[in-house]
Amino acid sequence: MPKQKLLTAEPLVPRQAGLPTLREAAATCKACDLWRLGTRIVFGEGSERARVMMVGEQPGDKEDVQGRPFVGPAGGVLDKALGAAGIDRNDVYVTNIVKHFKWKPRGKRRIHKKPNAIEITACRPWLEAEIRVVQPEVVVLLGATAAQGIMGRNFRLTQHRREWLQSRIASFVMATVHPSSILRAPDDASRHEEMRKFIEDLKFVAAQLQRRKAA
Ligand code: SF4
Repeated sequence: MPKQKLLTAEPLVPRQAGLPTLREAAATCKACDLWRLGTRIVFGEGSERARVMMVGEQPGDKEDVQGRPFVGPAGGVLDKALGAAGIDRNDVYVTNIVKHFKWKPRGKRRIHKKPNAIEITACRPWLEAEIRVVQPEVVVLLGATAAQGIMGRNFRLTQHRREWLQSRIASFVMATVHPSSILRAPDDASRHEEMRKFIEDLKFVAAQLQRRKAA
């Protein structure tokens, strides 16, 4: 009898496992078809005791090559904004809602292609497992794909940016733009403005971390 196709990665997620075991298990995941496209899985990275978890959409070209999240240009923007907001990078765990790179060819380049609802649903158990282990005080959803993947398809980032959102994944959940959107700004002036707003969003997170530390 042919094997039934997995609709989510849930049956593959080891129970009560730490990050190294989860990472090892995820490396063989074939719960959706994206494993065929990506070179390798790009699992989250950071301390099990990180206070903040940043959740992006999916790894990009550089992340796929290196097997590490947020090491490309968008990661550079994120690091710069975290520094400007006063958030210690050691307090941050970075990951994506989808863990394989989805792309389409354009000439010799691999161009990002947005993951669909089936792929997001399939991959979400890996993110939930990361959240269970790390138990971050704050989860920051970077971009509409990650935000809708957690908050539902009707969630509108433009209406609920920089707000504390009700979610079972953590006590404090906030959505903001994906740093790659700042890189796509049409000119220098709008890029600076977008960066300024992104840093303000992260300062909102930093203030929450400070309050919790003081409590
Ligand atoms: S994208 Fe996620 S669910 Fe799909 S194969 Fe990769 S790890 Fe598994």
